[in-house]
Amino acid sequence: MILLMGLPGSGKGTQGKMLADINGMHLFSTGDLLRMYVTGERRQRMLAGELLDDSEVIAMLDRALKTVNDDDECLLDGFPRTIKQAEWLLEQVKAGRFTISHVIYLQVTHDAVLQRLQARGRLDDVEAVIEARFKEYEHLTQPVVDWLGARGITILRIDGERSTDVVHRDIVSKLHLS
Ligand code: AMP
Repeated sequence: MILLMGLPGSGKGTQGKMLADINGMHLFSTGDLLRMYVTGERRQRMLAGELLDDSEVIAMLDRALKTVNDDDECLLDGFPRTIKQAEWLLEQVKAGRFTISHVIYLQVTHDAVLQRLQARGRLDDVEAVIEARFKEYEHLTQPVVDWLGARGITILRIDGERSTDVVHRDIVSKLHLS
């Protein structure tokens, strides 16, 4: 299992899709799964840039992962976003369900991704919501990277401000994929 982490707009989705397409891997995006399933008030919370409850997101991903073989290589885009979620993931590893080979951490500045997100034009890509998502990220998700690193998981820090192809080639070479 390979985890894709980084600020909203850092290119996790794009890079995840390229890796999955080129190397024939599963790609689970919790944002995409939530956009499939979540309705009503919780959908409004998503659009306001708030993270949804750990228990809900974990249960949803758990169900999704059960639809594939544990031995298949999977990419996770957008999970874990909190220490609670990371703890659940490592419990699964300890139980022998799967292994985490790498974390791909796409490093970008706020300014660079603000422009990208505004160009993407999703409903949660307006400036006030983007700021809220950055805050959530810094407060809850950023610490997860170091937390995983401290538990022996290799963090590949990648400069995500370069072009899509250059970032992709960098990831492929660091993962030692062909
Ligand atoms: P994304 O497509 O990854 O930018 O996610 C869109 C939105 O879905 C986020 O702003 C959160 O509201 C929600 N979301 C996605 N993944 C998670 C997660 N792992 N934990 C909690 N909320 C999530």
